[in-house]
Amino acid sequence: MPEQLAESIVQLALRRGFFNPTAEIYRASAGFYDLGPLGALMKNNLINYWIDTFVKRETSFDVYLIDGSLILPYDALKASGHVDKFTDPMAECKKCGRAHRVDQLIEDVLGLKVEGKSIEELQEIVRKNGVSCPNCGGELAGFKEHHLMFKLSVGGGEETAFLRPETAQNIFLNFKRIAFSMRAKLPFAVAQVGKSFRNEISPRQSIIRLREFSQMEVEVFFSPLRADGPRGFEEVGDTVIRVLTREEQMRGNGEAVELRARDAVEEGIVPNRFLAYYLAREVRFFQSLGIPPENMRFRHLLPEETPHYSGGNFDLEVKFSFGWKEIVGNAYRRDYDLTVHSRHSGEDLSMDDNGVKVVPHVVEPSFGVERILYAILEYSYREGVREWPLLMLPRIVSPIKAVVLPLLDREALTSRAWEVYTALRMSRRPIYVVYDDRGSIGRRYARADEAGANLCITIDFQTLKDNTVTVRDRDNAQQVRVKIDELEEIIFNDMYRGLEGTGGG
Ligand code: AMP
Repeated sequence: MPEQLAESIVQLALRRGFFNPTAEIYRASAGFYDLGPLGALMKNNLINYWIDTFVKRETSFDVYLIDGSLILPYDALKASGHVDKFTDPMAECKKCGRAHRVDQLIEDVLGLKVEGKSIEELQEIVRKNGVSCPNCGGELAGFKEHHLMFKLSVGGGEETAFLRPETAQNIFLNFKRIAFSMRAKLPFAVAQVGKSFRNEISPRQSIIRLREFSQMEVEVFFSPLRADGPRGFEEVGDTVIRVLTREEQMRGNGEAVELRARDAVEEGIVPNRFLAYYLAREVRFFQSLGIPPENMRFRHLLPEETPHYSGGNFDLEVKFSFGWKEIVGNAYRRDYDLTVHSRHSGEDLSMDDNGVKVVPHVVEPSFGVERILYAILEYSYREGVREWPLLMLPRIVSPIKAVVLPLLDREALTSRAWEVYTALRMSRRPIYVVYDDRGSIGRRYARADEAGANLCITIDFQTLKDNTVTVRDRDNAQQVRVKIDELEEIIFNDMYRGLEGTGGG
């Protein structure tokens, strides 16, 4: 059944234009996906909703949104540690030649967590346990650290650069400029949404592990001398978060503990209030996107999985049909990034905190766009409710807000429907509506449901008499009759339904 759901999502995505492999008319290479007409709109809506929530509606501190270059110079990524350390362990099958990510393979086959182990140690585990190629059973050889960045040569080729492996680096590189141009005071944050590139050894599960993907990140900079946290902590401090502690993971039974964000800090589980603030806000954000809290957990990464400079990493994992998977990485990076960039560039990246010079500390929530889109699709997919599959998408991110339908293919109805449709498209507010007059009304409702369209607006004979239409709600298929003049307001309000108190929208 679980594999069936993933397969249904992929089939629906292909059939309805959510996503498909890049260059699929050729022999596409793995790990690259294009978003189709509905997927691109949905991504756009998700990003806008995220920016509304984490940038525009942030009142605890200023958040500055930037849009940095995808190509970063060698020196910057040497300083950040990516040139030397951003690798995954790899081995190749002697028989079929397929490359495998060794740590993942060991985890899949033996159920062992082996993060942080050296390539020699991994090779030893493979040898001892007789782990072989999952594709053909062949022997594994050629163990090495595989570099994850895509290397480029700039200009005539004498200058080396890379496609950025994360959006975070642009933020650190711009730190001084932003602090100066915005007259920023601690605490403040910088956010960025955009593409990141990682040459993954074995991309898999459609858009879950990609070589080119999108991130939505915030870096919040704060003074290490203050423990008070963000101003808005009081408002979210009571939010219940589920934490998979290190102790539980060592015990191997994977039960998350439930506690208030506030207590997580007081009990020393989460290292500071800025981090706890984001964990709480993430729970609310994803709840508003249809993911139940009991299907989310923050996994405290084990010491061997945690970078040496980190003060604690908490991955927000969601329960998918194929198991728990990270969708947001949360890290307390301390002053690592600013310190290394300061050292390598020679620039002073400290700030003033009431007369004391400090290198700000950083908390980073890093959201993966494609994984979130996929999670939303899994959580909104319904079979068996109607005779056709139904996508109960969160109304704020669904690509189509309303479908305008003439009841029958008669000139009087189609021309009136077209008028309603164009008036809505041209309305002051950005609502995306489509027009559909192809096939029976039942077929058209089915198509709208499968695309996750929030509402269906039907123009019938009564419309011609009294300027009213029926509005059908996707989730319960109930219809109400309303005046055409009210439609814009109704569709607009409907988009925000259920978002009160979530901190979003
Ligand atoms: P990280 O910087 O590795 O903690 O990644 C932050 C977030 O980016 C993760 O939680 C994922 O949602 C997303 N992400 C990371 N790597 C990939 C990938 N290869 N494909 C798709 N999303 C990714």
